[in-house]
Amino acid sequence: MAKKILVVAEHRDGALKGITKEALTAALQVADDAAEVSAVILGQGVDALADELASWAPGGVVLFEGSEVEQYTPEVYVKVLGDFIKESGAELVLTGNSYQAIDYFPRLAAVLDAPLVPDCTAIESDGDKLVFVRKVMNGKLDARCTVNGEGPTLVSLQQGAFPPSGAPGGGAVEKKAVDAGGIEPRKILSIEPGETGEVDLSEAEIIVAGGRGVGDEEKFKLVFDLAEALGGAVGASRPPCDSGWVESFRQIGSSGQVVAPKLYIALGISGAIQHLVGMRGSQCIVAVNRDPNAPIFQEATYGLVGDLAEIVPALIEAVKESQEA
Ligand SMILES: Cc1cc2nc3c(=O)[nH]c(=O)nc-3n(C[C@H](O)[C@H](O)[C@H](O)COP(=O)(O)OP(=O)(O)OC[C@H]3O[C@@H](n4cnc5c(N)ncnc54)[C@H](O)[C@@H]3O)c2cc1C
Repeated sequence: MAKKILVVAEHRDGALKGITKEALTAALQVADDAAEVSAVILGQGVDALADELASWAPGGVVLFEGSEVEQYTPEVYVKVLGDFIKESGAELVLTGNSYQAIDYFPRLAAVLDAPLVPDCTAIESDGDKLVFVRKVMNGKLDARCTVNGEGPTLVSLQQGAFPPSGAPGGGAVEKKAVDAGGIEPRKILSIEPGETGEVDLSEAEIIVAGGRGVGDEEKFKLVFDLAEALGGAVGASRPPCDSGWVESFRQIGSSGQVVAPKLYIALGISGAIQHLVGMRGSQCIVAVNRDPNAPIFQEATYGLVGDLAEIVPALIEAVKESQEA
């Protein structure tokens, strides 16, 4: 079992990413002794985030501070983290499988000559060994991987696979200067947000998603109405995006976004595997479908069998009534 576990934190716009807390939760579950769970964060002016992180990392937090890491650039991250991981003696290095991690984590593994297990959904133990579980074949199969040899193992975790448990408290923050080893950080001239609409689905706590069963673009208004009543975001399976009923950034699934909200409401979605891999990490799944044998019901916490054109207006009414009460 891993004695020393290091979590690499990620932050954006002055806040820790939710996936970092998920990685810390995984670390605390796996550790023999919580004191061996530490974290590292890079940035400038992020003292408050390092303090917050310390409440999750009983083994302490190292904050690399400097203008070179004010913004993420892969070369500098790989240099600073590579040196630090070697020095720290960490056996297991965890992070969330974010776009940022997909960019630099493989390079870090190459520099450290360390094994990398990406996009894990569970970590199990088999005697003294850790077994990393990851979905393969578009989510149809679970692969169980073990790692041989000495040195650190790098593992990135699928969003939603480890719902945050709660901060155990107790860590201290140590500040270190960045030594970028002469690497010139890339100059970021500007960051242009992509077409993500009014909400970031990956961070949304409530998502109401519609599928082909909604019917057409006009009827999709029902999905928006329920989302609005609940204060949630609107997602979709692939057919409504392909048909132009909604924008493509709303697509959830293997060729769309992976989401893990507290509540996911699937309306007229059958539950094809390509959709499930994008939302099965949700904490509570409510499915509305007129086919009682639809595969989505096997994933759902609550299932409503019936016509969504009747059920959704009733749900909206009930939500509004509960809010007025
Ligand atoms: C390489 C590849 C990548 C893909 N990537 C994605 C992806 O990222 N995301 C994704 O979603 N799909 C993806 N797909 C497509 C996927 O295989 C399915 O075709 C798709 O998810 C089906 O969408 P759906 O459930 O909305 O439609 P359907 O499978 O047609 O299901 C519609 C459901 O609505 C129900 N229904 C119909 N009318 C009503 C009503 N009035 N009231 C209640 N229920 C009703 C039906 O019973 C049915 O279960 C991908 C496919 C491939 C090959």
